[in-house]
This record gives sequence, C-alpha cells and structure tokens, in this order.
Amino acid sequence: MLLHIRPIGEVEKGLLDGLKDHISSIFSLPVKIDPAMSIPSYAYNPDRGQYEASTILADMMMSIPSDGSKVLGIIDKDIYVKSFNFIFGLAAERVAVISLTRLREEYYGLPPNEFLFKERILKEAIHEIGHMFGLVHCPDIGCVMHFSNTLDDTDIKGCEPCARCKALL
Ligand SMILES: [Zn+2]
Ligand SMILES: [Zn+2]
Repeated sequence: MLLHIRPIGEVEKGLLDGLKDHISSIFSLPVKIDPAMSIPSYAYNPDRGQYEASTILADMMMSIPSDGSKVLGIIDKDIYVKSFNFIFGLAAERVAVISLTRLREEYYGLPPNEFLFKERILKEAIHEIGHMFGLVHCPDIGCVMHFSNTLDDTDIKGCEPCARCKALL
C-alpha cells in the first residue's frame, strides 16, 4: 500500500517533495506524488469566495487508486465546510485535503516565512493523514492530532503524533 500526495490545481513542486520523506517516515509507508488533478470548479462557492471541502473529497473519490491506498490532496485555495468560516483540512477514510492558503504568513499581512510555511504544511498533512488512519483529536496540545482552531494551535503543536496516538497507528 502507498500513500498518495495529489496536488489539486497548481502547487509548487518543492513543497510536495519536502513532504514526501517526512510523511513516509512517520507512517512507515512509501509515498508517491501523483500528477495534479484539476480543481473541481463546482466546489467553488462564489458567495463565500471559497471551495467546499466535502465536494472536493467527493471529486477525489472518483479517481482513487484501486489498491486501497489513501490520497492526500493539496490545494492552494481557501476551503470551508458548512458552519465553519474556513478549515485547514478535512479527511474521510480514503481521501483528505489540506489548504495552503491560510498557512502563509502573507495571508495575515506578515512577511513571508518559508520555514514556518513548510512546517505548517507538514503538520496539517500529518494531521489529516492521521485521521485517514483512524486517529481522532488528541487533548495533548503538543500532539499533531490536536485540533487546530487557529494557526497558533498549529504552531504550538509538534509534527508527530504523541506516544498515545502513535500506539494507535
Ligand atoms: Zn482534525
Ligand atoms: Zn496525541
């Protein structure tokens, strides 16, 4: 079994390569970077100027690998689900998606910080993959499975599951 990283629309290749090794070592699985799929335009909500994340997951489900592998989608558009202003990511059993939009310092009017940006992507990626493997939100604020309500939560937590979560993998 493989873990697929799939760009949805345009995503900088260097970011994907950086994720590959980290994810592979944490989940002890080979990771493959898929060719990009196009952004499903029907997921766009013009009233909100955002893409609906469950619709993106449903679209991804139409082209999942037949060997049972899981797929993490990465999109550089702002995403949401009903009753949330925005989300960093969303996961189902076989597919998950993370958004890069709000992980950049520039989004908040701050100077770019490539290190922080990459670290945040890694944390969100590991978090959503953790959900695909059945992990739920963890009360330990240092654990990657802790829920990120704000970016501060993301910055406080580590890149790895805590010992308790790890034991469940
Ligand atoms: Zn979560
Ligand atoms: Zn944990």
